[in-house]
Amino acid sequence: GSSHGDSRIIREAYFEDPLYVPIVQRAYELWEELEKETGNKLLLKTGGLMIGNPEFTLVEGARNSAELHKLDYKILNHEAIKAKFSVFNVREDEVAVFEKRAGILFPELCIQSHLDLAKKYGAQIKVEEIVIKFDFNEHEVKLLTNKGNTYTAKKVILSCGAWIKNILPDLKLKLTIERQVLYWFEIENSEQFESKNFPIYIWEYEHDSMIYGFPIIDQKGLKIAFYHGGENPESPNKLNKELRAEELEKMKLAVAKHFPTAKATFKEHAVCMYTNTEDLNFLIDFHPQY
Ligand SMILES: Cc1cc2nc3c(=O)[nH]c(=O)nc-3n(C[C@H](O)[C@H](O)[C@H](O)COP(=O)(O)OP(=O)(O)OC[C@H]3O[C@@H](n4cnc5c(N)ncnc54)[C@H](O)[C@@H]3O)c2cc1C
Repeated sequence: GSSHGDSRIIREAYFEDPLYVPIVQRAYELWEELEKETGNKLLLKTGGLMIGNPEFTLVEGARNSAELHKLDYKILNHEAIKAKFSVFNVREDEVAVFEKRAGILFPELCIQSHLDLAKKYGAQIKVEEIVIKFDFNEHEVKLLTNKGNTYTAKKVILSCGAWIKNILPDLKLKLTIERQVLYWFEIENSEQFESKNFPIYIWEYEHDSMIYGFPIIDQKGLKIAFYHGGENPESPNKLNKELRAEELEKMKLAVAKHFPTAKATFKEHAVCMYTNTEDLNFLIDFHPQY
């Protein structure tokens, strides 16, 4: 699915729309609660840089959200970025919105924490079991699985990511799946790329073209990815998980250009999926009939 790959960015100055700021603020509270109750370290605050030309989508949007919601942020010009974060090879026309509270969530551990607490409060967890059919009426929902089990419930929440169209074909949801590759690189002088010196970042290097990444965590290497621009498999079951030589070349060039002092060597990749709505906003809803 989509919830893997060691790290996920959490950020408050949402460039996409200020509407998301209060939602993500509530998420911060809930992650902290989950950390307390499980004792697991789920969120690492590294600070975040939204880099780009001040008139492009990212910096303009992040600044707008930060202003509107009075967030703790700073605008850094290219000299200030270089002074504080020397490994970022920014151009003279680029600035950054720096937000302190941005950071990293560890998705595998986040999911495990949710499962553990669900169990603690009485949930039964079923794994390796696929819902192949469901019937519903006004009063109940019946799920049939590939193990021949039937489950009946008053309510059902479908959170099946890229598979949502497969399970609700009649709704003809306007969603496209997008293949996304994550890359990890070994870095020679790694200290400058560790989380105490290196924040999470999104970088709009050309208008509406972005790259993003994370500091080195646990010796795994520097993680970096292009934001969008992947191809669209018809179904999540047809996702190509192989890395093509030309994709790797493109990423190697991008790393050399943005972090020329890194002396980076490619280590490994992973393939993930975005599920895009037409306007790229989230889709969270009730079934239209029930
Ligand atoms: C490369 C990449 C980078 C990203 N970076 C960020 C980021 O930095 N910050 C951020 O906030 N978000 C990020 N995202 C988005 C985020 O990861 C996703 O929004 C999130 O993981 C989606 O979770 P999900 O539970 O909806 O889907 P999934 O994690 O895909 O889970 C769906 C689950 O449903 C199961 N399922 C499907 N059909 C059935 C069925 N019929 N029966 C039983 N089970 C079924 C699947 O097996 C799967 O386990 C990123 C995504 C990608 C791909």
